[in-house]
Amino acid sequence: MSKNLTKREEDYSKWYNELVVKADLAENSGVRGCMVIKPYGYAIWEKMQAELDRMFKETGHSNAYFPLFVPKSMFEAEEKNAEGFAKECAVVTHYRLKNDESRPGKLMVDPNAKLEEELIVRPTSEAIIWSTYKSWVQSYRDLPLLINQWANVVRWEMRTRLFLRTAEFLWQEGHTAHATKAEALEESEKMMHVYADFAENFMAIPVIKGLKTESERFAGAEETYCIEALMQDGKALQAGTSHFLGQNFAEAFDVKFANQEGKQEYVWGTSWGVSTRLMGALVMTHSDDNGLVLPPNLAPIQVVIVPIFRTEEELAAITNVAHELMGQFKSLRISVKFDNRTTQKPGFKFAEWELKGVPVRIAIGPKDLENGTFEVARRDTLTKEIIAKDGAVSHVSGLLEQIQKDLFDKALRFRDKHITEVNSFEEFKEVLETKTGFVSAHWDGTAETEEKIKDLTKATIRCIPLNRKEEEGICVFSGAKSVGRVLFAKAY
Ligand code: AMP
Repeated sequence: MSKNLTKREEDYSKWYNELVVKADLAENSGVRGCMVIKPYGYAIWEKMQAELDRMFKETGHSNAYFPLFVPKSMFEAEEKNAEGFAKECAVVTHYRLKNDESRPGKLMVDPNAKLEEELIVRPTSEAIIWSTYKSWVQSYRDLPLLINQWANVVRWEMRTRLFLRTAEFLWQEGHTAHATKAEALEESEKMMHVYADFAENFMAIPVIKGLKTESERFAGAEETYCIEALMQDGKALQAGTSHFLGQNFAEAFDVKFANQEGKQEYVWGTSWGVSTRLMGALVMTHSDDNGLVLPPNLAPIQVVIVPIFRTEEELAAITNVAHELMGQFKSLRISVKFDNRTTQKPGFKFAEWELKGVPVRIAIGPKDLENGTFEVARRDTLTKEIIAKDGAVSHVSGLLEQIQKDLFDKALRFRDKHITEVNSFEEFKEVLETKTGFVSAHWDGTAETEEKIKDLTKATIRCIPLNRKEEEGICVFSGAKSVGRVLFAKAY
């Protein structure tokens, strides 16, 4: 196994692509823009799914599944949404192939099998879901509807990158319907908090909660809440979004309910999603030049035990101790692997598990057996210590908690160091070129200024932070009045 990763400082983007492939998370496929998620990567995604799913259920949501295809007329019903996604849609026009007479052994689309109506491969499922909600909702008693779907979606992205932006991606999409505006707003805000909680406490990724500007808002939404994270190269990443849809989809699909007075009203909606992009966020937040660094909560293997031996007798003695340890770890629900391969040397194994980000490595050699000790190494800090066999499992269990916390604290320090307040456009540009990260600046609130700044600097408004100070100021670009600072950054 060759580890030779490109260094982050040399070429961050190359480092990322190499790491995703070398750590066995995913690889490019024979299909443009689509990736294969490999077992090790998928195991991490499954951990994310399990925790998110638990959190959704705890907040009252149930899972369901809706079709992959959306008839074009249905897709068109909510015009803004349709228009927003039109440029990224894959469209099914035929349902059959036939032998191509002019090219033996090859197939062609059967012109006689043209669909009467084209089918859109869902880029998001509001249309199909709201067309279904029409028959699910009659009275206020049917509300709220709190549904989530785990699915794949397709957005024909032109510039793709493993996990961060793919043409097909896996995600969950929540779609809820409510009797009142206040309830729907509360739901969309609540799910943003759920995402932030998940990102910070499970993935150890600090995020900023905020609102998108009108031009960055989800097509068809009245408000988009988001969580924004900062990657190690100083670029921002939108890690999750939660939309308040107003009554837009209810009107488009005629979803009405009889209120308590028997009057017909349109339903209020929300939708919210996070995707396999979170895998990219995970890699880009914590990993280093030696490979992946996984927070213990997400590590498919939390502890690896590597035996150091020369003879079969030594291996047998170490195996006994390792099995004893493994039993104890398992009873604490700590996932542990004993790497007793005889085909590889310890040095190779160390490098491999380092590359794969296993949080804690325990090495056991003949000397340790004599002394009643183990060597314990932390992946995040690359530090080693010798610990006594007695109490080793509880020590490691505490260490895993510590690593989880330290990773968050480290990422938080980095993030906070990379939020810079600026008061002029000169400063604005300088920060983006030198220090990078989030630039906190006054903005006049117009799409025009936002667009101009984007053209000149490639930085976009990542969000209007929810907890921003009310502070009057002057827009760094136009000099017009501003009611508070927003966060700009170059973003993935
Ligand atoms: P949206 O429906 O546009 O609000 O996106 C929902 C979630 O999917 C957000 O967290 C996005 O960051 C993420 N996302 C959007 N496009 C892609 C893509 N091409 N690949 C991976 N994730 C994406």
